[in-house]
Amino acid sequence: MPDSNIMTIAQTGEAILACQAKPVVTFDQALVKLTEDMMATMFAANGVGLAATQVFSDKAVFIMYSRPNERYPSAPNTVPTIVINPKITARSLAMESSIEGCLSIENERVAVFRHQHIKVMYQTLAGDVVEQQLSGFIARIFQHEFDHLQGITLLERMNMPDQVSALEQHNSGLQDVC
Ligand SMILES: [Zn+2]
Repeated sequence: MPDSNIMTIAQTGEAILACQAKPVVTFDQALVKLTEDMMATMFAANGVGLAATQVFSDKAVFIMYSRPNERYPSAPNTVPTIVINPKITARSLAMESSIEGCLSIENERVAVFRHQHIKVMYQTLAGDVVEQQLSGFIARIFQHEFDHLQGITLLERMNMPDQVSALEQHNSGLQDVC
């Protein structure tokens, strides 16, 4: 990715982090460029995922790339994945708590409940629809990044373990900042 730019990552308090992302309707070169820059930014920050809202874009896009690194030494190995217009179509009743960090909340790690297994649907850069079942750490990354696209960060999530009620409470309190 020789032409990629490292983007500025929004930090806690930035209005964009509370915004709900908008669906992607045009799968064009600008979208490709956004995801390339996001990938470079995530690598530079040693992250395992990054949502567009974290780099001041309101598109419903995130990237995830689990691999062992400085921040998550025991993360499983996967390939870098670009996720566009994601939906979580099913969630296991079983949940588990684990420590998470966030590139938008520096030096903070908090325990967060996530569903152990989820079924998801999203689009690729080409606009193709993908359906997957995810578990464990990968499901956790997906839920974390999916939260970002709803304007929810770890700080809201740590006090609201249930995904649906967290979203409802968040939306009812949304300020006119987006
Ligand atoms: Zn995050």
